[in-house]
Amino acid sequence: MGSSQQTGRRAEDRIHAHAAPGKGKPLAPFAYEPAPLGPHDVEVAISHCGVCHSDVHLVDNDWGVSRYPLVPGHEIIGTVSALGEGVPHLSRGQRVGIGWQRGSCLSCHYCVTGREPLCDANQATCLGHYGGFATHIRVDSRFAFPIPDALDSATAAPLLCGGITVFSPLRDFAVTPQMRVGVVGVGGLGHLAIRFARAWGCEVTAFSSTPDKHDAALQLGAHHFAASTDRGAVKRAAGQDFILSTVMADLDWGAYIDALAPGGTLCVVGVPPSALKVEAFSLIGGQKRVCGSAIGGRAAMGEMLGFAARHAVGAQAECLPMAEANTALDRVRHNRARFRMVLTA
Ligand SMILES: [Zn+2]
Ligand SMILES: [Zn+2]
Repeated sequence: MGSSQQTGRRAEDRIHAHAAPGKGKPLAPFAYEPAPLGPHDVEVAISHCGVCHSDVHLVDNDWGVSRYPLVPGHEIIGTVSALGEGVPHLSRGQRVGIGWQRGSCLSCHYCVTGREPLCDANQATCLGHYGGFATHIRVDSRFAFPIPDALDSATAAPLLCGGITVFSPLRDFAVTPQMRVGVVGVGGLGHLAIRFARAWGCEVTAFSSTPDKHDAALQLGAHHFAASTDRGAVKRAAGQDFILSTVMADLDWGAYIDALAPGGTLCVVGVPPSALKVEAFSLIGGQKRVCGSAIGGRAAMGEMLGFAARHAVGAQAECLPMAEANTALDRVRHNRARFRMVLTA
């Protein structure tokens, strides 16, 4: 890997990765010849890669879009090992992070207004490309984000997807510090949401179906805890200005709409198995909203990393060596991670 030549590589310089050979199959060692480094591209030597629930969905082809061999991994941190000619803003050896999105057109309406994930030409890091369970990756440098010095790589890696996913709704739906914020689910996404919402200045209520998570939720920064499956407990938590649902389970959505204060918003970032059933009248009287959100644009990513550095927000991460990627994936698949798995080089 020593050479930064921009034209091809020697066979021994292939990128070594862990790939699923087919739907739901365990990952196996896999090597590939990377595409030539374009003028705006960077190559990153990966030191850490978080394991997101989406990686499990990709390996298992739950969304019907996976292509194999599939190298998962889109919560990547590493150092720049090679640069294209047109990369003025990064330097060799600099620590950067890469999330779900690896590229976009950068010129459409959505791209020029900081909403790159909405671009028609948006490219996902591990769909049609090989992801971060690997020694290296090459991406558009405009989607490689400098990691502030104050952030530790292991706890910061999950910010690149999980963190931005829960930070963007606070930013984009104008959540303010005097608001009451409910976070449904105390897991990979939820624990980060609690930390961000607390640091944002809000009064935070954690909702979880697991009573055991009471203490953990308060330690993470929640002011209150409520059982998510107990309609009475949800009712007692009424008056929430913003509720962020991070769970992948069907909930009594009506109870959560009722728990919103007038003008409140229920934002969904987790994907439950069934459609959300909401009575129109429950929204109309109190002018309530239901919305969704996914990742965040480049501006939001920079803001999120800066905010996390200032407020010491990071993931509670369990690290395993990259060679144990299958163990890490299984722990995420079966919701046994506390709270986020991170693979290390
Ligand atoms: Zn993800
Ligand atoms: Zn675009």
